[in-house]
Amino acid sequence: MSKSVPDISFLGVCEDIRYIPASPSTLPEMSLIGLKSVVASHIFPLSMNDSFFIFGAFAADEQESTKIVVTDENGQDVFWIDLSMGVTRSSVQDATSDEKTQDTSAQANSVAPQVPAAIWAPANTRNKSWTIIPFRPGTSIVPLLIYRPGTYYIVGRRGEDEFPMGFLVFVEVKTPPLTPDRVAAIRAKPHAAKRVHVQLSCRNCDESIHAYAGIEKDDALELEGWQWYESLPDEFTCSCGETSNIDLTYIRSNLHGLLGDTLRTGPRVSLTHMHDPDSLERIFNDFSGLLEEQPAEEELQQFIEDNPVLLHTFSPDRVFYKKPILAKHQTDFAVVSSSKELVLIEIEKSSIRLLRKDGGVTAASTHAFDQVRDWLHEADEHRPAVLEAFDLSPDEVTQVRGAVICGRDQGYDAEALRKLKATRYERIVFLTYDDLLRSLGILIRSLVEMRAPQPF
Ligand SMILES: [Zn+2]
Repeated sequence: MSKSVPDISFLGVCEDIRYIPASPSTLPEMSLIGLKSVVASHIFPLSMNDSFFIFGAFAADEQESTKIVVTDENGQDVFWIDLSMGVTRSSVQDATSDEKTQDTSAQANSVAPQVPAAIWAPANTRNKSWTIIPFRPGTSIVPLLIYRPGTYYIVGRRGEDEFPMGFLVFVEVKTPPLTPDRVAAIRAKPHAAKRVHVQLSCRNCDESIHAYAGIEKDDALELEGWQWYESLPDEFTCSCGETSNIDLTYIRSNLHGLLGDTLRTGPRVSLTHMHDPDSLERIFNDFSGLLEEQPAEEELQQFIEDNPVLLHTFSPDRVFYKKPILAKHQTDFAVVSSSKELVLIEIEKSSIRLLRKDGGVTAASTHAFDQVRDWLHEADEHRPAVLEAFDLSPDEVTQVRGAVICGRDQGYDAEALRKLKATRYERIVFLTYDDLLRSLGILIRSLVEMRAPQPF
């Protein structure tokens, strides 16, 4: 039995493509970042305009144009893209090579402009082969929306012919409620948002829904007509009726998930950053000033609670303040990191002497280590009870570690201090307050670079 295989297939979507420039003798390398056929999203409707659709085409330069239709489980068309490939021959710098530039262009729906995507492909018409064709619809065309999670099929249509090309599965990322420990972790994340806004409008009558989520409600925004996401109705139907029964329950349940996960936001979602270089600079200066005053441990605790971004080096997903573990102990801070490590943190005064004149470790710093070692011992002996104290389930934590934050860098032999920090007392890391300042400084510089206007 022979099967005929279509000459074009759909491979998945990816968020980014990087072209690695070519030397004159080689083809540029195209790196598809995060190619996948399962798309997880906090919210629906989900815009696909910014995603790259990745196709594989056989003998791309000889292809007929294809109407690529995304259909839902019931076979209903959701949206479509016109993909037509045209080839312009042109020589690469190296005239002896027989490589060529291939321009493909595609259109999404009828109002789409031509979006050319230049693709380099080895041209060897005697040995036809498969080529990767990326296509990003872009935001200048009609919104290409996936209204709800589910399996979607990609089919190709040429005249009367219809053939399967692939599929995409969309799943909902269910977002746990904003408990205080999750709010603290969002505030600790360098790229978190303090508010996310999403807007859905009818193209015909302009009636729209403006919803926002934040770590707290914003009265001024509500006066401007923005609606707190949790108070959205089930559905949106505009008054002209062209936009009807848009399911808003995904936004209502999960919009706050984007606060700490801002890389997943796409078009139609805008956000207000939690941190900017200026506000972090103020925290840096205030913290340096506080440390100069030889503050009490409680003042240091309070300052870090007010500015949990100082804990960003622990990559927190959750941050706990002053949590007791079992009856005997109380942690100063605890963090569940993005790699599911529970880190129990002990802070001591910044004025503590870390090392003796002879380079040995002082009783005060040994005491801090011993404290954390006791916690880890408890965590090993009574793991379920310790996790329960944090309201964590066993599958949320793969390992328990410790950290001591204590003292300053100045006044010690550099080599002896390096040795103290490098010595791993089992699973315990040692940081000084200067280490916290330093990592905040690095963060500020990286934000300055990232958010600087890009020169053309
Ligand atoms: Zn309308």
